Amino acid sequence: MDKTISRKGFDDVMVPNYAPSQIIPVRGAGSRVWDQAGKEYIDFAGGIAVNALGHCHPELVNTLQEQSQKLWHLSNVWTNEPAIQLAEQLTKATFAQQVYFSNSGAEANEAALKLARKYAKDNFGADKTEIIAFNNGFHGRTLFTVTAGGQAKYCEGFEPLPGDITHLPYNDLATLEYHLSDKTCAVIVEPIQGEGGIIPAEPVFLEGLRALCTQYNALLIFDEIQTGMGRTGALFSYQNYDVIPDILTSAKALGGGFPIGAMLTTKVIAESFSLGSHGSTYGGNPLACSVASTALKLINDPTLLAGVKQRQTMFLSGLKQLNQKIGLFKDIRVEGLLIGCELKVSWQGKSRELLKLAEEQGVMVLIAGPNVLRLAPSLIIPYPDMNKGLQRLAQAMLALKMGF
Ligand SMILES: *Cc1c(COP(=O)(O)O)cnc(C)c1O
Repeated sequence: MDKTISRKGFDDVMVPNYAPSQIIPVRGAGSRVWDQAGKEYIDFAGGIAVNALGHCHPELVNTLQEQSQKLWHLSNVWTNEPAIQLAEQLTKATFAQQVYFSNSGAEANEAALKLARKYAKDNFGADKTEIIAFNNGFHGRTLFTVTAGGQAKYCEGFEPLPGDITHLPYNDLATLEYHLSDKTCAVIVEPIQGEGGIIPAEPVFLEGLRALCTQYNALLIFDEIQTGMGRTGALFSYQNYDVIPDILTSAKALGGGFPIGAMLTTKVIAESFSLGSHGSTYGGNPLACSVASTALKLINDPTLLAGVKQRQTMFLSGLKQLNQKIGLFKDIRVEGLLIGCELKVSWQGKSRELLKLAEEQGVMVLIAGPNVLRLAPSLIIPYPDMNKGLQRLAQAMLALKMGF
């Protein structure tokens, strides 16, 4: 343990936009993490649905080490082998034909929204600029993406905001039908709202949305930054629905813990990102792309994806059992290994408290707002770790109930 680095340093030298826990994790392996004091945690958070293969997966470490001795960065004046390889893998595995790489989810969505505006202008004239998004959605923190997100509080103080973005209720096809028009250039939607509380779209909603977008020449953008890369048991969650988007964004688990984002689309739409129209210094760098390429190879595997479904079933029955005994949750929503446990009315507002108690018990969890406990563990979490984590979570739930 490095005694010169302590949690207090965070408050001294970091801007106060985060309020991290009092412990400092220093090491991870698989689904376990250790802090400065050597205390062990079971990781049910997975870095907010990022470390889909756990911590320091040997094949990812190996790829990173190998690439780190070959080539780190060149700029987009030259391309590189890992970027082309990853783009080939992504297009082969999805509806998409072409890929743009970024460094984060927000940047992937920024690219998607800019492309949608440009495509509409190129093909249908200057008036087709409206972007429809949904209440309680989350698309990142750049000014454009945070404005598209459906939580007004995240925009407060940052005005003036980009214009012509409309927010509608999620899973409400009638309202969408009423609003969508020839002026709409794109609709951006999460197939399962993640930050919004693990709320899945109803199939009829996405099907209706697809039909309306086609009817009005609006592009359908699926933000799969949280739901993609095997999280729901399919490589991307649109593959669980009978609906194909025009643009799909990925990030979070795409690099298995190494920062990278991607925007996937068709050749016809991609044409509007003509030479010089958009770009990123680090986007598509060989380090990130090589790690993502290995992560994608490992995740897009029938055995691994079947394992997600098995773990889903076990988490669901485990959580239901705990809840039968302790009774904090009114609803347990399980979409693959994206899990939301909604607190009963009498416990509402206590999700952060439960997170803290869980940490004390040695299990890392997440929240999605004040009323939902969120779990996004590694897709390959070993069964003993799963059981141990659930036992520790039970202790935390009891502690909350007893008022410790
Ligand atoms: C996390 C997230 C983002 C933002 O990704 P960053 O890498 O933090 O910019 C966007 N959309 C969804 C659905 C997310 O879950």
